[in-house]
Amino acid sequence: MGIDPKKLKRIPTPEQAPEERIHNFLEVNYGYDLESAQQEAFRCVKCPEEYAPCIKGCPVHIKIPLFIKQVEEGNIKEALRIIWMNNTLPAITGRVCPQEDQCEKDCVMGKIGDKINIGKLERFVADYARKTGIEEELLEEMIQSIEKKDQKVAIIGSGPAGLTAASELAKRGYQVTVFEALHEVGGVLVYGIPEFRLPNELVEHEVEKLKRLGVEFKLNYVVGRTVTIPELMEEYDAVFIASGAGTPRLLNIPGVNLGGVYTANEFLTRVNLMKAYKFPEYDTPVHVGKKVVIIGAGNTAMDAARTAKRLGADVYITYRRGEEDISAREEEVHHAREEGINFKLLLNPVEFIGDENGRVVKVKFEKMETLEERDSRGKRKIRGTGEYVELEADTVVIAIGKTAGKIIFQTTPGLEVDKRGTIVVDENLMTSIPGVFAGGDAIRGEATVILAMGDGRKAALAIHEYLQNKQ
Ligand code: FAD
Ligand code: SF4
Ligand code: SF4
Repeated sequence: MGIDPKKLKRIPTPEQAPEERIHNFLEVNYGYDLESAQQEAFRCVKCPEEYAPCIKGCPVHIKIPLFIKQVEEGNIKEALRIIWMNNTLPAITGRVCPQEDQCEKDCVMGKIGDKINIGKLERFVADYARKTGIEEELLEEMIQSIEKKDQKVAIIGSGPAGLTAASELAKRGYQVTVFEALHEVGGVLVYGIPEFRLPNELVEHEVEKLKRLGVEFKLNYVVGRTVTIPELMEEYDAVFIASGAGTPRLLNIPGVNLGGVYTANEFLTRVNLMKAYKFPEYDTPVHVGKKVVIIGAGNTAMDAARTAKRLGADVYITYRRGEEDISAREEEVHHAREEGINFKLLLNPVEFIGDENGRVVKVKFEKMETLEERDSRGKRKIRGTGEYVELEADTVVIAIGKTAGKIIFQTTPGLEVDKRGTIVVDENLMTSIPGVFAGGDAIRGEATVILAMGDGRKAALAIHEYLQNKQ
């Protein structure tokens, strides 16, 4: 009798040991090899497409049972072809999607045993195809099938929303130019998410693929300053705004301007983009001191904490709510705990205390307690207890979220935004200006990579339709 896949346990992926990885910035998880990926794929019962809860849970509805079947049969080219129908950046989403809340959330195998490791299988397909040349074959097929068009599309921002839209439009033959404010392409994928979670070379590889599809990149180009949207509209047939939500929220408490108090944006950009993690090879060191206090408990907070740990500090994650309301991916919280990051929950910062040189030395918190009632986002309400504690700190990193920047709105007459500054769009992601579309964090506030990519794809299809009708 054959082995019953339902009785098998989830096949683990090897990882760098915590005591080793806290001294380097190399990727933590090594992913599956072919054999272990096939074993994991064998466990999936391949639910019928119309029912499969994993497809429903994935924001871009990848045909998960179909690609997993191809993995099981060792047909990685077909697996990649299936994934690419809905997702052009599987090496990235396989690494950073919050799978536990999406594709893996309602996996039927979870009812009788372990859920299928969909994210790591998706990552495996992308990595294996890249390393073996399978991806190159598919890319060549794609390039050969492109029928070039004269119409031009401008994309503002090169994060996951911009890159996905660029890929979908270039595949349909449009002349695409991406305008990026920074000197590197990739948005949060390169300046936010650290090397040990998402190696930069993977993003660079995706950018090279886009260049081969004919996409042009203009770097150090701040739309709203170097050029405005009305000016772009004179040269381009459509515009897609994918400028993200790059303005950090600040804490309005005493001491926020002391030396050593950073926003997570500042801190992570310094380490990632200026390559401070490669000191002394790159002469841009970041001195964090012995004790680092992080404020917040989302993905950004985990990344800042784990980065500070790798720079040699003792790190404390502080959060005003309780454990159940931590919003970071499960894997990140698990890895942070393994790496010895201390979690101090139900602490609300009320003051940063400095020394005579104007540098932070302590953070004062009010202790909080949770109530039964929940707020509009489903989080448990909290209230102060009137008791206070202090934590020593050489560096503080504030990671409490980001909002959209104002420069595009201020320089684009007629562009409607809501009261938080996020761009208002219709069901086809068109803004209040005909021919100008928007997506990703610019319309959602800080969200996720896959939602940004989903918007990029949806906007590209809407732009395609708009331009066909225009012709
Ligand atoms: P972005 O990635 O922000 O890209 C926008 C780009 O536009 C940037 O490159 C910016 O420089 C450029 N730009 C802005 N204004 C202009 C202008 N005026 N002119 C030209 N260019 C401009 N999500 C997950 O799913 N999983 C995770 O694990 C995860 N971890 C995260 C960790 C950190 C530290 C952060 C900050 C976010 C994380 N997120 C994660 C959220 C996720 O990265 C974002 O939701 C996603 O990147 C949004 O994509 P986007 O393309 O809309 O914008
Ligand atoms: Fe899961 Fe994200 Fe891949 Fe969709 S894109 S299958 S949610 S890992
Ligand atoms: Fe496989 Fe789980 Fe999807 Fe069913 S729900 S097809 S078992 S991954």
